[in-house]
Amino acid sequence: MKLQQSVSLQPYNTLAVPAVARFFVAVECRDALCEAIALAKSRNLPWLILGGGSNLVLSGDFDGLVIHLCSRGIEILSEEGDGGITLQVAAGENWDALVQHTLAEGWFGLQNLSAIPGNVGAAPIQNIGAYGVELSEVLEAVEGLDTESQRFRRLNRADCELAYRDSIFKHRLKDRFVITEVELRLSRTPTVNISYPALAEAVGDREPSPAVVAEAVRRVRAKKLPAPSVIPNTGSFFKNPLVSARQYERLQKAHPALPAWAHGADYKLAAGWLVEQAGWRGFEEAGVGIYQGQALVLINPGHCSGQQVLALAARIQASVRKRFGVALDIEPRIY
Ligand code: FAD
Ligand code: NAP
Repeated sequence: MKLQQSVSLQPYNTLAVPAVARFFVAVECRDALCEAIALAKSRNLPWLILGGGSNLVLSGDFDGLVIHLCSRGIEILSEEGDGGITLQVAAGENWDALVQHTLAEGWFGLQNLSAIPGNVGAAPIQNIGAYGVELSEVLEAVEGLDTESQRFRRLNRADCELAYRDSIFKHRLKDRFVITEVELRLSRTPTVNISYPALAEAVGDREPSPAVVAEAVRRVRAKKLPAPSVIPNTGSFFKNPLVSARQYERLQKAHPALPAWAHGADYKLAAGWLVEQAGWRGFEEAGVGIYQGQALVLINPGHCSGQQVLALAARIQASVRKRFGVALDIEPRIY
């Protein structure tokens, strides 16, 4: 295990926030992960599990051990007679490279989740989703290290308590369970979902094969979202709020144009619309701002500190609360 000290985390977070890790280790296998966690415990250090760094905000230097998961491998676990195929994928694999690989092999199910940054191990953490599809639709199980018992465990889909951009790993197993492998059940039989208007429009008159859908997703995303390598960002900065039917009716009366979708017994509101209506779209001050093309994306072109990013986020939250009485929660994890 190669333990490094005082490592800059700026290249490891897509917001390009400058921050330093007191200790840093890249781990490629389960044994190295066990060793790293044991080391952190023995020195009483907090640890941070790092994938692609596309869904976190570093509010300052990290006075502990950053464990960067770099394990690799895509393995077929089983193939079923109905065309189903189950894969086991190492946490350190890049998510989008996996999506492209599965499509090239004729294994379908991930096409709507094309072009999402980050690594496979982080995908279950917020049950990644886009264009009407969530990881929960294909996740079979995860394997990982329970750092309390220092044993590896398999959690099936139900154990993961996946919900809208949420899972058990953000709650009861937060900072306790390190995902080392993800099992996905895909299919050789194509089924497609083009329920999102922007996606249907990009598909146009073409036969919506999984490859066509994946290409359309990539095209729409490239038009609408800034590449973090060009303008640092973490994708959607705020979660779409879920409100009760009563609260929705009240809001809808006051703001008839409010976009909302039924979500179980609740209603999902478009956080981007709320931020835009509060006047933040295209705002920029001292190097941080809100992307002109999509008001849900907080950008950090000035490579400002996490504190500056969070200060802007707090102003936006306050103004949306004042205007709509709706609380916006921050989506990326704050350290
Ligand atoms: P990181 O940022 O490295 O980690 C995020 C959190 O998960 C941290 O708390 C970390 O400790 C924890 N974690 C990471 N790996 C593990 C592991 N193996 N075990 C336990 N904990 C772990 N998200 C969507 O859902 N849909 C989208 O469409 C989408 N689009 C995006 C577009 C852009 C331009 C950007 C920048 C982000 C987008 N995101 C989207 C958010 C982000 O890409 C995803 O949440 C992604 O899964 C994060 O992966 P990561 O490896 O970068 O995680
Ligand atoms: P969009 O298509 O402009 O839609 C705006 C919002 O409306 C989205 O938040 C979406 O909810 C909701 N929406 C639109 N059509 C819907 C429908 N038919 N049914 C239910 N909800 C609908 O969104 P966008 O910003 O361009 O993003 C496209 C997709 O990529 C979205 O699914 C979004 O979640 C995902 N994305 C996520 C991140 C992230 O960091 N989490 C970043 C970029 C893009 P949902 O968000 O619930 O889909």
